[in-house]
Amino acid sequence: MVKVRPRVPIPKRPIDERIRDFNEVVIGYDKKQAIEEANRCLQCPSKPCVKGCPIGVDIPRFIKFIRNHEFEKAYRVLIEKCPMPAITGRVCPQERQCEKECILAKLGQPIAIGALKRFISDWAQAQGLEKVSQEEKSRIQRGRKIAVVGSGPSGIVVALDLARLGYEVTMFEALHKPGGVLVYGIPEFRLPKKIVDEELKYLEELGVEIKLGIVVGRTITLYQLLDEYDAVFIGTGASHPRFLNIPGENLNNIYSANEFLVRVNLMKAYMFPIYDTPIHVGKRTAIIGAGNTAMDAARTAVRLGANEVYVLYRRTRREMPARLEEIINAEEEGVKFIFLVQPIEFIGSGKVESVKLMKMKLGGPDHTGRPKPIPTGDIIEFPTDVVINAIGFHPNPLIPRTTPKLKTDNKGRIMTDQFGRTSIKRVYAGGDVVIGEGTVIEAMGQGRKVAKTIHLDLLRS
Ligand code: FAD
Ligand code: SF4
Repeated sequence: MVKVRPRVPIPKRPIDERIRDFNEVVIGYDKKQAIEEANRCLQCPSKPCVKGCPIGVDIPRFIKFIRNHEFEKAYRVLIEKCPMPAITGRVCPQERQCEKECILAKLGQPIAIGALKRFISDWAQAQGLEKVSQEEKSRIQRGRKIAVVGSGPSGIVVALDLARLGYEVTMFEALHKPGGVLVYGIPEFRLPKKIVDEELKYLEELGVEIKLGIVVGRTITLYQLLDEYDAVFIGTGASHPRFLNIPGENLNNIYSANEFLVRVNLMKAYMFPIYDTPIHVGKRTAIIGAGNTAMDAARTAVRLGANEVYVLYRRTRREMPARLEEIINAEEEGVKFIFLVQPIEFIGSGKVESVKLMKMKLGGPDHTGRPKPIPTGDIIEFPTDVVINAIGFHPNPLIPRTTPKLKTDNKGRIMTDQFGRTSIKRVYAGGDVVIGEGTVIEAMGQGRKVAKTIHLDLLRS
């Protein structure tokens, strides 16, 4: 058996320091560590890691440039395919994508592809490298007009790709800051806002206009946009909370994760006492769900001073959908987990005081391939004074409701063909509003595919 050198550990801040603030937890590699890790790469001719990357980054090539100390070249290889690597390097579930396919995963620990991506992107940001050369910018001739609704990862990639091809792109965003979940969902300690702001400069470089505070479907209709633009892309995400639909759900101090994280992120509750945003985390906070949103809510509650934070999940740790790194971080930060339980009722008078939990066991695979949780009939009562519901999201229904011919499925997702065309001519959609809850890289991948469709359709029309 080949002996493989272990992965260079990715430095993080000490636990007792990081749980007191919202600064970034992961420090990331320095130059020496990045080169040492890059040197572990076997430069496999068949590039299995690339097959695991949803947008096909040439991983061995950028790693080769890192080990040759050619960081700018490494960066150029990265952004050929991945427009915002400082973000994806931080939030992609690499253990289920490129790192899972890395040949070294079978022999020991895979190459830390995400950490290397992050290293090279942070290096490029520190150098102030522009993503588009002056020469390329001067070659772009602006032509037909595109409206992009929503400024999350899918909309950003559509805007970038089409602006690069010479279209005049205008983005319409309901909130007062662009970035979608990257700014209002994912907390500062995982993805600093300044990193997102730096990556968004790419839109500026390409002359994309961003109109903030415009709610399409309310401020302006989709049909009005169609009158003015040659094509419209809808990338409005999925931020409408799913409810448990159990008794007591409207008691006070039961939040949806979205409401909780938006208050913390956009209304700056994390900057207390400079911003006095009303938010209550209680003494014992219960988070329901086990995805990235649940981990973010749990770790945020820890930082806001909850004495005890519990994650309640109906399956086991093995089935948790969150990124492994975030599960480990949450465990390190003192979040406790109760597995195989399903809330069936909230109890309290005015405010929530406890939740009744049905104990579950695992059965055979369900439609997602994960083992199906089955009620055992045993019920326990769990005292808690704040509950954060993080069981998932649906797309926001506003645009479909105000656009009668736009077809959606029974989950409210906009229906498209495989290339991103909706039921209305010249209207396209992608990202979470089409796939339901996905990942940042999936939304970007969809954006890239749809931008290509828009371009080809407009060339033909
Ligand atoms: P979004 O990012 O949701 O952006 C949609 C944008 O459209 C928003 O800015 C919204 O304000 C705007 N909008 C909505 N309606 C309108 C309207 N009518 N008019 C104008 N604008 C409108 N994925 C990962 O890969 N890794 C992670 O670690 C991760 N963590 C997550 C943590 C949280 C808390 C959440 C909620 C999600 C997380 N995800 C993660 C999932 C990921 O963020 C999403 O899959 C991704 O952001 C979807 O991109 P999108 O472009 O489809 O939509
Ligand atoms: Fe390097 Fe792993 Fe890709 Fe092989 S599979 S080229 S070792 S990153």
